[in-house]
Amino acid sequence: MKEISDILKFYKELGADFVERHHPEPSSELRELTRKILSCQKCSLHKTKTNYVPGEGNISPEIMFIGEGPGETEDKFGRPFIGKAGNLLEKIIGKMGYSRESVFIGNIVKCRPPNNRDPLKNEVEACIPFLQEQIKILKPRVIVCLGKVALNNLLNTNYPISKVRGQQFSYMGTPVIPTYHPAFILHKKDREEVSRVKWETWSDMEKVLSIVKGEELLES
Ligand code: URA
Repeated sequence: MKEISDILKFYKELGADFVERHHPEPSSELRELTRKILSCQKCSLHKTKTNYVPGEGNISPEIMFIGEGPGETEDKFGRPFIGKAGNLLEKIIGKMGYSRESVFIGNIVKCRPPNNRDPLKNEVEACIPFLQEQIKILKPRVIVCLGKVALNNLLNTNYPISKVRGQQFSYMGTPVIPTYHPAFILHKKDREEVSRVKWETWSDMEKVLSIVKGEELLES
């Protein structure tokens, strides 16, 4: 599937405007997984949520973005990153030359933790197999972890995001690039701080793009 998409991309870059990215139907595997997510009762978050937020996007994505868990708006509509942080994420995705629909956007936990608190250990343990399964099925070329909760729960680490953002990690053979969570950027008040974190985020996204284009990073 990746090879076909590479060929189509090559023709598109040559100017063949008849080539549009193919959005295949979700495989039965993915449909079955989503069905399981939508009826999960493995932790108590299902009791307080309004809607499950399984994740959405291209089912053969070059890039998969992972956040920590649904917020208030996401909980209300059952879709990931559609609030203020989502608006900023969409801008970043657009600047990278992609659209929201051309990437996949998911979360560590699929139900909103009350008052947007960090998900608890038992909640992550109950939910993360869904994300692992999504990654196996979707096979993104690069995973972007948005913030420390996404990074540390995916990789089972405990890094401060400011120390490791932009570095390349690996999850089951897939490159992982951590960057700031968009909400972290939005919470910054000081103008210089805002422009620093935006600049750093963009530099992280350039690394993501270089991996997608096949220019592997020298650091590991
Ligand atoms: N923040 C997240 O981490 N995920 C969402 O889906 C929305 C906001």
